[in-house]
Amino acid sequence: MGFEIDQKGFYGEFGGAYIPEMLYPNIRELEENYLKIIGSEQFREQFRRLLQDYAGRPTPLFRADRLSEHYGTNIYLKREDLNHTGAHKINNTIGQILMARHLGKRRIIAETGAGQHGVATATVCALTGVNCIVYMGALDVERQSPNVKKMKMLGAEVVPVHSGNKTLKDATNEAIRDWINHPVETYYIIGSVVGPHPYPDMVTRFQSVISEEIRLQLAEKTGRDFPDYLVACVGGGSNAAGAYYHYLDDERVRLISAEAAGMGVNSGQTAATSLLGRTGIIHGSRTLLMQDEDGQIQEPYSISAGLDYPGVGPLHSWLAKTGRSTVYAATDEEALQAALLCTRKEGIIPALETAHALAVLDKITPGKEETVVVNLSGRGDKDMETYINRLSL
Ligand SMILES: *Cc1c(COP(=O)(O)O)cnc(C)c1O
Repeated sequence: MGFEIDQKGFYGEFGGAYIPEMLYPNIRELEENYLKIIGSEQFREQFRRLLQDYAGRPTPLFRADRLSEHYGTNIYLKREDLNHTGAHKINNTIGQILMARHLGKRRIIAETGAGQHGVATATVCALTGVNCIVYMGALDVERQSPNVKKMKMLGAEVVPVHSGNKTLKDATNEAIRDWINHPVETYYIIGSVVGPHPYPDMVTRFQSVISEEIRLQLAEKTGRDFPDYLVACVGGGSNAAGAYYHYLDDERVRLISAEAAGMGVNSGQTAATSLLGRTGIIHGSRTLLMQDEDGQIQEPYSISAGLDYPGVGPLHSWLAKTGRSTVYAATDEEALQAALLCTRKEGIIPALETAHALAVLDKITPGKEETVVVNLSGRGDKDMETYINRLSL
């Protein structure tokens, strides 16, 4: 496959493992074992069973008739919003908690921004009875109090991080610091296809159940197992990587990525990472990154907390650079209107992140006979306050 990682964990020029020496043993242990573990009969059976009976998979592929009519094409929604905890993130945390168990680790740490990954991690830690510590920027702790309360109810310890801008990037730094200090017993559950090798590849594999199901479901519904367009939003890029995975080398499928333009790509208030980013290193990975002239990481902005990460997973940098994916950016306002349209046409309130993918339907021009799959990464319950305020409901 042209879009698989190489021996050293690179997608072309992006990826790798740029980590402090203290973490070499941890990363090496994971790197040497993850493929063996994922491939083992025992792991596969445990993963399959939890995805089915706990997360609620397979998620439906729904033909959105009224949206299809509106856009004059055939639109299918992959309903990741129907997963337990309301998004695709549980696919990854189930995979990684099993990985931790197979490696004999009983102390779990995680970073979280809006709190969605923190909740998904605290959930699987409760499920398996292991200790869970979640690092979260102090500002995010304030802004996302329902998720903080959920994590606490689930038994996790939430540690507010007061350094830097007190947001996701700082929480990630703190989680890495913890890992350096407790390398032997700790497993770090990263929330997207980011971080040092082998995380991007491992998380992509856990999320690839999405495209595995799309293939079967499309074949059943349309007689053809691939779409003409496959649309997903990209924060770190895990739901997109999972939706793309089995189509990466299939050039018949146009891979469309939606980034958050915030107030506009050139407004300075944006999270359009692969459109604006330059190559740099963040959290152990070489990738496209929003940075100023001096290489200082720029604080991203988006109305959607799940998309405002200054980097993007190395796979997505490579897909964008090679032209395999086409990247569009949707503004806050476009996302809000797309969320409203989806809600009024289909009776589905999408997450604000997902709304960026839906907004891209206005920017592409699929034909009447063509098929578009949109990965509906999550549900909008968590965003109701924003919707109510911004849409004057
Ligand atoms: C976290 C989140 C995202 C962004 O994360 P990716 O790793 O880019 O998928 C997108 N949609 C929803 C609903 C999320 O919760």
